[in-house]
Amino acid sequence: MFATLSDRLADTFKNLRGKGRLSEADIDATAREIRIALLEADVALPVVKDFVGAVKERARGEEVSGALNPAQQIIKIVNEELVTILGGETRRLRYAKTGPTVIMLAGLQGAGKTTLAAKLALWLKDQGKSPVLVACDLQRPNAVNQLQVNGERAGVPVFAPEAGNGSGDPVAVARASIEEAKRKLYDVVIVDTAGRLGVDAELMQQASDIRDAVQPDEVLFVVDAMIGQDAVITAQAFLDGVGYDGVVLTKLDGDARGGAALSIASITGRPVMFASNGEKLTDFDLFHPDRMASRILD
Ligand code: GDP
Repeated sequence: MFATLSDRLADTFKNLRGKGRLSEADIDATAREIRIALLEADVALPVVKDFVGAVKERARGEEVSGALNPAQQIIKIVNEELVTILGGETRRLRYAKTGPTVIMLAGLQGAGKTTLAAKLALWLKDQGKSPVLVACDLQRPNAVNQLQVNGERAGVPVFAPEAGNGSGDPVAVARASIEEAKRKLYDVVIVDTAGRLGVDAELMQQASDIRDAVQPDEVLFVVDAMIGQDAVITAQAFLDGVGYDGVVLTKLDGDARGGAALSIASITGRPVMFASNGEKLTDFDLFHPDRMASRILD
C-alpha cells in the first residue's frame, strides 16, 4: 500500500516542527511529495504539474496560521485545490422545463454504461420520477437483453427495438423512445448507447447522430475509474467527438485511488456528477468532490 500524502508530509515536516513558517526549500520538498502522491493515484502528468504549481503558489502566499502546523496547512491547501478542480459542490441533474428529461449515456464498451443506466433509473425512481430505459446499444450482442434484465431488476420499463439484439437503427429507436415517453408520461428518458473497445470514428458519429435526434438535457460520459492514465485520452476523444455535460465514474469499488476523476475534471472542465461503486443496482450515488479529495489524499 502507498504511504498517504498526510504521512508523507508529516515525514517531510518532522524536522520543521516549531519553525512556523514555510521556506522555499520546505515548499519544494512538499511539492515533491504531493507530486509523487498524485502520480501514485494515477493522475495524468500534465494535471499533476499544473496542480503542484497552483499549490506552490498558494503556499508561498499563505500567512502561517496559528492553529495549523505547516503540514496541516499544506494538506488544507491541497484539499481545497482538489475539491475546486473536482467541481466544488456536487453538480445536480438538470431536468427539462417541459416534456421528458432526456439523459444520454456515452462511453467505451465495458465502462459500465448498461449497468449504470439501470442504477440511474432506480435512483430516479426512488426519487419519485418515472424513468424509461432506452436500448440504443444495438452493436454489442446481448446488450439489449442485458438492459432488459437490469430494467426488470430495477422495476423500470425498457424501450427496445422490436427485433431485439443486434439489429435496427439506434437513431430511429432513440427518436421513437421520446414519442413513447410523451405518450406514456415517462418523465426521464435514459438512452444507453453503443460503446466500442477503443475510440473510433463510427462510434462517435453514431453517438452524435443519437444526440442530434433526441437533444438530450444531459449527456453523461461514463468511464471506468480503473483505466487510470488512459481516462484522459478517452475523455478528450468523447468530448471532441460527442460532447458531454458531466462524467460518471464507475467501478470505484475497485482499488483505484481516484486519479482519473481529477485528471478528467481538470482536462475537460466537466464535473463528475455520479459515482458507481459495485455490481448491485444500489451501488450508486451522487459524486461528492470532498470525499474524492480525501480518497486521493489518503
Ligand atoms: P457497458 O459495456 O459499458 O454497457 O458495461 P456493462 O454495464 O456491461 O459493465 C461491464 C462489466 O462491469 C459488467 O460485468 C458489470 O457488472 C461491471 N460493472 C459495472 N459497473 C460496475 C461497478 O461500479 N463496479 C464493479 N465492480 N463492476 C461494475
